[in-house]
Amino acid sequence: MVSLYAASKKIYPRSVEGIFAYWRWIFVFITQLIFYCLPWFEWGSRQAVLFDLGARRFYIFGLVLYPQDFIYLTGLLVISALALFLFTAVAGRLWCGYACPQTVYSEIFLWIERKVEGDRSARIRLDDANFSLEKLVKKWYKHIIWIFLSIWTGFTFVGYFTPIRELAMEFFLTQMSSWELFWVFFYAFATYGNAGFMREQVCKYMCPYARFQSAMFDHDTLIVTYDEERGEPRGPRSKQADLATAQLGACVDCTLCVQVCPTGIDIRNGLQYECIGCGACADVCDTVMEKMGYPKGLVRYSTQNAMTNHWTSEQMWKRLLRPRVQIYTMILVAIMLGLVVSLSLRTPFKVDVVRDRSTLSRITEYGTLENVYRLQIMNAAEHVQKYRLLVRGVPNIKITTDTEVEVDAAQARWIVLRADIPYGSVDAGSHKIQFEIQAIGTDDFAIEKSVFIVPR
Ligand code: SF4
Ligand code: SF4
Repeated sequence: MVSLYAASKKIYPRSVEGIFAYWRWIFVFITQLIFYCLPWFEWGSRQAVLFDLGARRFYIFGLVLYPQDFIYLTGLLVISALALFLFTAVAGRLWCGYACPQTVYSEIFLWIERKVEGDRSARIRLDDANFSLEKLVKKWYKHIIWIFLSIWTGFTFVGYFTPIRELAMEFFLTQMSSWELFWVFFYAFATYGNAGFMREQVCKYMCPYARFQSAMFDHDTLIVTYDEERGEPRGPRSKQADLATAQLGACVDCTLCVQVCPTGIDIRNGLQYECIGCGACADVCDTVMEKMGYPKGLVRYSTQNAMTNHWTSEQMWKRLLRPRVQIYTMILVAIMLGLVVSLSLRTPFKVDVVRDRSTLSRITEYGTLENVYRLQIMNAAEHVQKYRLLVRGVPNIKITTDTEVEVDAAQARWIVLRADIPYGSVDAGSHKIQFEIQAIGTDDFAIEKSVFIVPR
């Protein structure tokens, strides 16, 4: 019998210190500081960042976005995708190794595991040991901290979609709605499962990015590489051994690079799709090289071209600014500028006009011909705003309902608007008209097109 499934082997990554570990922790710290703190900030009388799906409004500091502003979200997604292409072309899986939530939470959960159960060998011993009180206490202690952190993470996540201060009150008074409760625990469960148990399995088997990343690599992409020419033949030796006499390369075959690897691979076998480019193996190998008195960088960030052609770092860094990278950068900067300019020129209100479908057109008691419209004015400003309404497009057309409307701060309001013309003043048919909506006291105005129907 041949099994179609390979049993997964538990990985016990060893702790590591070094420049790349330092940067990873900086990213963990920054991303988590933003994630956990941001929903608690206030902007005027509301939450600074809130994605209110129920009211179909997104608040991002001074910005209030409506569904009609979907274009900005699209722009943001395009920028994220292009940034991913750019970073990947320059330095491979930078996102995976330093900022991906899966890496970040696995790192935090692993840190807790180390604090409670000890480093790699202590954890292996504990898992292999028979059941004991010490084992029970350590495992429970670890899981309780993990569960607490997961619930806090789930709670914070939901706090981006519903005001977090009210959510906190509801949480402590056990008055959360069933949907809020569901999402808090669903997200908590996903965090607990992915960062506590699945870890590298998510990167290896679930994440699509690992699969198509190779399409974005080229021979000038920086990747974590083992310098085979320098390292081989590998083997143990004393610190004083002469490499030429012993016929050995720089690799002492200590396997520390494998022990620190969060995905459990051996970088000495070349680039593998499991490698998330975290640089842990480069960090630990540098410490070994330092102890042995050899130059650092046996495992380092390098490019395929630099390794093959024995380029200096200067030659290698020059190639990083190749046409592909320049084109990605130019497109990225252009879209970012476009988004910023478009956001700064955006009118702080939106208008939607819909013709009343129940009556096409009617003759009023004053002998005029009337059409009815429904107008939605969405005030994206943070204060009450008055609007003046005007209609043009057909001779003598005028609005017979209120021409001034007040809308509360960051609110939307539907109004019924009637427009009429003298009977018989224009031919039968559909006539194009425009509604002009002016925000009183400002230069902002919007124009919405519609039609005025004159029956035969
Ligand atoms: S850490 Fe460096 S020296 Fe040790 S096995 Fe890995 S490549 Fe060789
Ligand atoms: S091989 Fe090195 S860079 Fe790749 S995942 Fe393992 S430790 Fe990180």
